[in-house]
Amino acid sequence: MEKQLRMDVHTHSRFSPDGVDDPSKMARQAANIGLSVWTLTDHCEANDPDKDSYRARCRDSFRAAEELQSCGEFSGLTILKGIELGQAMQDTAFADEILNAHAYDFVIGSLHNSANRDDFWCADYSDPALDLPQMLLEYYTEMLAMVRHNRLDVLGHLTYPLRYITGEHGISVDMAPYGDLIDEILKTLIQNGKGIEINTSGLRQKLGLTMPHKPYLMRYRELGGEIITVGSDAHCTGDMGKGVIEAYALLKECGFSYAAYFAARKPHFITL
Ligand SMILES: [Zn+2]
Ligand SMILES: [Zn+2]
Repeated sequence: MEKQLRMDVHTHSRFSPDGVDDPSKMARQAANIGLSVWTLTDHCEANDPDKDSYRARCRDSFRAAEELQSCGEFSGLTILKGIELGQAMQDTAFADEILNAHAYDFVIGSLHNSANRDDFWCADYSDPALDLPQMLLEYYTEMLAMVRHNRLDVLGHLTYPLRYITGEHGISVDMAPYGDLIDEILKTLIQNGKGIEINTSGLRQKLGLTMPHKPYLMRYRELGGEIITVGSDAHCTGDMGKGVIEAYALLKECGFSYAAYFAARKPHFITL
């Protein structure tokens, strides 16, 4: 892989509740590790009751990326302004407000928890009453509604629940019952000219897989999908760029010739 082909388009700064570093430090790291494209995609959780906090976070993150983009300090590095918009369907008015407030380059639409459920990271997996099949059904049903709503550029981490269910808690789960829903999600994205991401954070976590992993990437391709972005989902500079080269190899293995990034909400393709 040529150094100039490396892109990381899913990263978080201190403007995300779980991020630590300043965007300026992240830009320097992006340049140091030889990225050609870096997108800052801080969280906006549309369902969070503290709207003012996310208004401020989104404003500060966008401004920081905009300043870095125009400062001229990082020649050879394309800096882009993105957002990871979570749970858009749980407050579409707020999600629209944020998307209308800033001219983003890139919108990752993610689902961390379905309505009236805890995030998969904090569910009580020791509770015998925890109905994982029902949670997964609700999760993929809401995800389908979210992609039909069509305010995103790529769908974030399609297999996010597995990070916690199988990765962190070692519970094996049969994903077959959600196959039709996931097919419908992928078909809807393809019809709308939208994409999916390969989120490489699972490679450095207990899951040991990208999200999604190979069978889903193969299925997306089989259905005619072509737009795939790759991001580390780094929450600190040390994780930036991690797993990106592995993800490109996986894409090639699955028969893809290109990886994408978004600028001004339009996909651009880089030959693998
Ligand atoms: Zn996420
Ligand atoms: Zn993220």
